[in-house]
Amino acid sequence: MPSTLTLAPAPTSEAAERVRLEVREFLAKELAAGSFETHVDTWLSGVDPDFSKKLGEQGWLGMTWPKEYGGHERTAMERYAVTEELLAAGAPVAAHWIADRQSGPNLLRYGTEAQRREILPKIAAGECFFVIGMSEPDSGSDLASIRTKAERNADGDWVVNGAKVWTSNAHHSHYAITLVRTAPADSANRHAGMSQLLVDLSTPGITINPIRILDGGHHFNEVVFEDVVIPGDMLLGEEGAGWNQVTAELAFERSGPERFLSTFPLFAEFARRASSPAELATVGRLSARLLSLRQLSLRIAAALDRGELPDIPAALVKDVGTTFEGDVAEEIRKVVDVPASLDSPDPLARALAEAQLHSPGYTLRGGTNEILRGIVARGLGLR
Ligand SMILES: Cc1cc2nc3c(=O)[nH]c(=O)nc-3n(C[C@H](O)[C@H](O)[C@H](O)COP(=O)(O)OP(=O)(O)OC[C@H]3O[C@@H](n4cnc5c(N)ncnc54)[C@H](O)[C@@H]3O)c2cc1C
Repeated sequence: MPSTLTLAPAPTSEAAERVRLEVREFLAKELAAGSFETHVDTWLSGVDPDFSKKLGEQGWLGMTWPKEYGGHERTAMERYAVTEELLAAGAPVAAHWIADRQSGPNLLRYGTEAQRREILPKIAAGECFFVIGMSEPDSGSDLASIRTKAERNADGDWVVNGAKVWTSNAHHSHYAITLVRTAPADSANRHAGMSQLLVDLSTPGITINPIRILDGGHHFNEVVFEDVVIPGDMLLGEEGAGWNQVTAELAFERSGPERFLSTFPLFAEFARRASSPAELATVGRLSARLLSLRQLSLRIAAALDRGELPDIPAALVKDVGTTFEGDVAEEIRKVVDVPASLDSPDPLARALAEAQLHSPGYTLRGGTNEILRGIVARGLGLR
């Protein structure tokens, strides 16, 4: 049942604090060994399949899933501690992020037994990466207007035609959970006739075209489907139930620490060096916001552990949290005497440049803040 904005306090968990210390120790060793460098917004742009594999070996992927599918049957609070530490360190976690956060849980919920047995253990091992195939060139906020279609052929397979866009890391990934029209659009019921397909991105007929972002980096793509044949058994869940499945998936992805920690490595570096009254005041203001956000987000993790669906508070966290991420870059820019530069040897200058250049995306990805405010308003009975 959808939740209201009431949230019980987050219980503390000894197990979560224990695993947090293990992750910290692991990250300190990896940093010292030079296996990664700290960057901003690494859950989107820090792709390092070897690092993902190491996390899989530690048992830190698929943490909450059943052991029979390669998971570790740990709590959402333990998973939260792990993800929080990885983000705070600016570690390269983008390769597996979507698969671990939402595609795996989606498969657990809607997948067939064969799909689960085949794919989930590989995700938990850090060897299988997923992307989100929702947005299209003319469909973003109004996702129900998608035009990519899949039709059954005589063999019962799906033939897919259309295009997806802003598909983060499609060029590094194995599968796209792709929202397609499996029946013509019906103006009387705009949410009917959509389904989700598990699309192997190496299938002939798929072209992945890069789209560069402001800092020159490449995580975005356009993914074009031309008569792509997807086996009939790669339907995810029910034919025609794509809308409900996709909205449940979005609720899952909105409340985690990545919705307020994308720019934390910049904040941490700034706080370490802050000395003037203006800088210290900025540290204070941002810390107060960060701590409140963290409490909200933790309480949602606890609600998930109790089997609740805290979709309304999750939308709120994403709205307030992603606004905070952009404000971190802006407030720090105003008080530091360091010019932002991607090429600088100074980690503060680099992090500032990365945070600013990634800033336009924080409040857009995963559903824009205007759309989320609509969801919160509806949840409160205001519209
Ligand atoms: C960094 C990043 C990564 C992304 N990764 C992926 C990905 O991997 N896979 C994927 O499928 N998509 C991805 N996206 C796409 C993202 O989901 C869309 O950008 C988002 O849903 C908005 O859609 P749009 O860009 O088409 O904007 P539009 O929907 O055209 O919106 C434009 C503006 O109008 C506002 N607006 C639209 N409708 C309303 C309304 N009803 N009420 C009030 N305001 C409204 C919006 O808030 C926005 O400000 C990513 C986006 C970003 C920025």
